[in-house]
Amino acid sequence: MKALLKSKPGFGNVDLEDMPEPDCPADLVKIEVRFTGICGTDLHVYHDTFKNYPPVILGHEFSGVVAEVGADVEKVKVGDRVTVLGSTAITCGSCSYCKRGYYMFCSERRGMGHGTDGSFTKYVLVREDMVYRVPDNLSLEEAALAEPLACAVQAIEELTTIQVGDTVLLSGPGPIGLICLSLLAMKGCKVIVAGTSADHVRLEIAKELGADIIVDVSKEDLQSVVMKETDGQGVDVTVECAGAGPSINSSLKALKNLGKHIQVGIVGKEITMDYDVILYKQIQLFGSLAHSMKTWDRVMQLLEQQKINLKPIITHKMPLTNWEKAFDLCEQKTCGKVLLSHE
Ligand SMILES: [Zn+2]
Ligand SMILES: [Zn+2]
Repeated sequence: MKALLKSKPGFGNVDLEDMPEPDCPADLVKIEVRFTGICGTDLHVYHDTFKNYPPVILGHEFSGVVAEVGADVEKVKVGDRVTVLGSTAITCGSCSYCKRGYYMFCSERRGMGHGTDGSFTKYVLVREDMVYRVPDNLSLEEAALAEPLACAVQAIEELTTIQVGDTVLLSGPGPIGLICLSLLAMKGCKVIVAGTSADHVRLEIAKELGADIIVDVSKEDLQSVVMKETDGQGVDVTVECAGAGPSINSSLKALKNLGKHIQVGIVGKEITMDYDVILYKQIQLFGSLAHSMKTWDRVMQLLEQQKINLKPIITHKMPLTNWEKAFDLCEQKTCGKVLLSHE
C-alpha cells in the first residue's frame, strides 16, 4: 500500500512510499481508510515545526470502514463505518490528566500522524477504545471532520458560556475557524468573521455557513465595523483562530469590557501586544488545546443529530497521489478542508 511518509527529521523529507499492508493483531482493529483531511499539523510536520517521530505516516483526521478485528476485540465489528480518536494512540493512561480524560496534557502522549503511524494510506491499526462508530445517515466525508469538529466544540462549548444573542468576532477563517463559525451560527450568535485578502475563498464559505458580517481586514477597518455593529461597545466574545499577532491584537481591541477571548490559533513565536488591555477591560482569557474525552461524546451526538453544517467546509477531494498539490492548496489557503483518499 502507498503511504505518505515522513522519512527523517528536518524540513520536507515527506513522500509517497510503498509499505507492507499490516496484519491485524489480536487486540487491534484494522480500518480501511476512506478520507483523511489535511490539517495544519500535517503542514507543520512537513516543515518540521511540530514535534514528530520519523519514520512516521502522516494524517490523523479520518474516517473509514473496519476491515478486520483481532480475536480479543469485542465491540467493533467488520464493516462498521468509523472515525478515530487518533490523539490517544500513545498515552500513559495513569497520570492525573489521563485519568480525567485530558489526554492532551499527558507527558507521554504521541498522536497518530506525527508520533505514531497515521492515515494517509490504505490501512491503519488502532485500539478498540479509539474507534467511534459513525451514524448511518452521516457521510464518511463529513465523518472525517470529527477531529477538527472536536477542537471547535471544546473551544466554543466547553471552556466558557457563549450565549444566544452574543456578538462574536471570529478571526481567522481556516477550517477550524469555519467549524467554530458553524457552531456559533447554530447557537444563534451574531458572528463577524475577519480574514485577510488571502482568505477570500474561506470568507465566501463563511457567508454560506451563516456569518452575519464578513470583514476583509486588508481592505476594511475591522474596529470601525465592530463598533458600528455593537453600538460602540465592542463584541461579547472573540475567537482567535488565525494564530497571528495582528489578529490577536485586533481581537482584544474589538472586545468589550468584561468580554471573553478564546485562543484557538497557534502563533508559534513571540508577539508584541498591549497586555494591559486584559486588566483594563477585565477580559477573561481562555486557551483551547484540541479536545478531551468528554468532547468526543458531544461530537458524536452532534454528528448524529446532523444539525451542524459541515458540507460547505469540504472544498476538495483528491487522491493521495496528488498530495503535493493538495498540501500546496492548504498552504495557499485557497480551500476549505481538503480530503485525501488512497483510491
Ligand atoms: Zn487536526
Ligand atoms: Zn498520562
